[in-house]
Amino acid sequence: MNITMHRFFISRDSFAGDNVSIIGEAAYQITRVLRLKPGDHITVLDDSGWEYEAAIESITHDTVQGKVIKKEPGVGEPKISLTLCQALLKTDKFEFVLQKCVELGVTGFVPSVSERCVVRKPSESRIERWHNIIREAAEQSRRARLPVIHPIISFVEACKQVTGPALILWEQEKSQSLAATLKSHLFNKAQAISIFVGPEGGFTSAEIELARQHDIVPVGLGKRILRAETAGLVATSAIMYEKGELG
Ligand code: SAM
Repeated sequence: MNITMHRFFISRDSFAGDNVSIIGEAAYQITRVLRLKPGDHITVLDDSGWEYEAAIESITHDTVQGKVIKKEPGVGEPKISLTLCQALLKTDKFEFVLQKCVELGVTGFVPSVSERCVVRKPSESRIERWHNIIREAAEQSRRARLPVIHPIISFVEACKQVTGPALILWEQEKSQSLAATLKSHLFNKAQAISIFVGPEGGFTSAEIELARQHDIVPVGLGKRILRAETAGLVATSAIMYEKGELG
């Protein structure tokens, strides 16, 4: 498959046998932004893990018709499923985290509201924008599945809902490092890990205690304090490296 082809996530009902009918934002990108023409090839993705090479056959003002000529399993998905439970941050910082963590291979995001969050609940249009950022980052980074963004919940609720091995990044944790924790039996064998990251002002001691009660392990990232929007990226990168996902 030609790796320079433009990629588009489209809905499953866009497919009818070998025919694909593309409307909406993807059609707009193909026709108005990229100005692709009949005969050009694109990659379309239905969020199944497969990717499809399609030849554009015709373009009307809002619909692109194509023919699927090749189907292959996508290669962009990591073997480990990482869920980032990120406390809400100021808008541009939160969006930065979404974009970069999609590139790094995060599977899902749980935006949460913790005690020291300073931002108000985002509007519907903001959440729509988050979905677009995730989709564009997934297309750009050659993911074969669209990372999920879950509804915003409280930190308390996020602790209750967590299943499987989970870490909480805490700058005051001096005895348990991320590096050592990832080598422990539980995390070494894990196929899915959740990571909790605090807001700009950090977690309170009570929140860390609550996390412990839910078996979420507090870990430190070394001697330096990272900005909230850096910490999730660094932890995600370290886990991906440890799991052999960074080459
Ligand atoms: N207010 C805190 C302070 O000044 O000590 C710093 C909070 S930090 C900017 C925001 C979040 O990033 C924290 O809640 C934590 O989840 C994560 N974080 C930053 N540096 C970290 C480190 N060295 N170890 C573990 N977590 C860290």
